[in-house]
Amino acid sequence: MTERVIIFDTTLRDGEQSPGASMNSAEKLRLAVQLEKLGVDVIEAGFPAASDGDLEAVSQIAGRLKRAEVAALARATRHDIDRAWKAVQHAASPRIHTFIATSDIHLQYKLKMNRDEVVRAAVEAVRYARTLTPNVEFSAEDGSRSDRDYLCRVFEAAIEAGATTVNLPDTVGYAIPQEFAERVRYLRSHTPNIGKAVLSVHCHNDLGLATSNTLAAVQAGARQAEVTINGIGERAGNTSLEEVVMALHTRGDYLSAKTSIRTEFIHPTSRLVSMVTGMLVQANKAIVGANAFAHEAGIHQDGILKNPMTYEIMRPETIGLSATKLVLGKHSGRHALRSHLKDLGYDLSDDELNLVFTKFKELADKKKHVVDEDLEAIVTEGILRTADVFKLDYLHVTAGTTVLPMASVRLNINGRPAQDAGYGNGPIDAAFNTIAKLTGTASELLRFSVSALTGGTDAMGEVTVRLSENGLLALGKGADADIITASAKAYVNGLNRLEYLKRNPLEESSASL
Ligand SMILES: [Zn+2]
Repeated sequence: MTERVIIFDTTLRDGEQSPGASMNSAEKLRLAVQLEKLGVDVIEAGFPAASDGDLEAVSQIAGRLKRAEVAALARATRHDIDRAWKAVQHAASPRIHTFIATSDIHLQYKLKMNRDEVVRAAVEAVRYARTLTPNVEFSAEDGSRSDRDYLCRVFEAAIEAGATTVNLPDTVGYAIPQEFAERVRYLRSHTPNIGKAVLSVHCHNDLGLATSNTLAAVQAGARQAEVTINGIGERAGNTSLEEVVMALHTRGDYLSAKTSIRTEFIHPTSRLVSMVTGMLVQANKAIVGANAFAHEAGIHQDGILKNPMTYEIMRPETIGLSATKLVLGKHSGRHALRSHLKDLGYDLSDDELNLVFTKFKELADKKKHVVDEDLEAIVTEGILRTADVFKLDYLHVTAGTTVLPMASVRLNINGRPAQDAGYGNGPIDAAFNTIAKLTGTASELLRFSVSALTGGTDAMGEVTVRLSENGLLALGKGADADIITASAKAYVNGLNRLEYLKRNPLEESSASL
């Protein structure tokens, strides 16, 4: 019998804890809308106790989504649970997700509580959350390193107190698949009331086993998988949504489980996450890497031409990659653009559409075919980042073999224009120096990389920068037909993310689960 696995996406909460991957509230909202379109069952939108900005972002998402459940994370305290509820109370289907650590090492060194005290705290938190909503998830942090019988006792008490989902996290990425599956089976057979709750797992990829552990747990009876798009998350990241979903999709014959994910939106969602977080996807990443469907070897190609099934276990169309893309060109009108953007998930106001249309026409003059990736870049830069402090208005650079590289830049800073010119070792260095001078910032450039957004020599260049300032870390991304402009946009985007972090200091830096 094929069982359904609930997909709980935590890209916006655990994923955002990747170093430098902070998103502004407009970007989070856009991503949440995309996750709903992808068919995610539960979207963990944030940790509202962390900052006012996070509470506000979760609240906006809760107000917008219609179908998906919206969860907010809370430690096992009234303060956190109140903040979480404040953020999700207006959602169509709200969920409060509360947690406390259950391993002896966490009890002794972090919580300084004994086992009985932790059970009491868990029960009180779940009971209190249940007075606010009937949909309560409880997680036992560091569950994979907790004593099995104690874990059963905590889960039994949490379910008795009203938890409707109980989650077993491998917080530190320590588990091995067979062992983790055995733990899931043990919990199912030794927790008397386990049938009254959904059993969930949440894995980290420190040993590269997050997907394997999650699938092993599903085979052992777990019915919710906590995942992120592209596997982003702290350290080595979380379980990848696309890997779990496509494994169940491709090997449902063996795994006897399925999800409600609309797989054709996997690739566009992966692109969007990469774009808004600034985190690139490695080329050989399973499912969504640039090489995942590239069959280079001649013998493979020959086989594939005769019958794709010779070497392809998945069709690229299944994840939304298609050879024949719907493209727009310079003669496409406003109406075609609007309807195409709507298909991509953007409902724009007339003013926003005018702005995107102008940028689209500019690009179509330089580039023959404008594809989805190009439109995503235009909307991400033009619409989602409008709350930004710094905006690039104008850039002019001179460079070559006989001149000193120089840049003149005009920025819009909090609504006011500011301009200046400066030199550098090259045109990009000159642009960055001038932007730093204008913004009065002193960030350090840790990394700079350029890639092509699509194929072809007229492809837009996509630049990623990694900046740090006073211990804060931010990634910035920019795309343009001209790579010097793309670099300047990426730098300005990174500076905006640093500003966002300065303005929204985390009250609680870690909610590791
Ligand atoms: Zn986690």
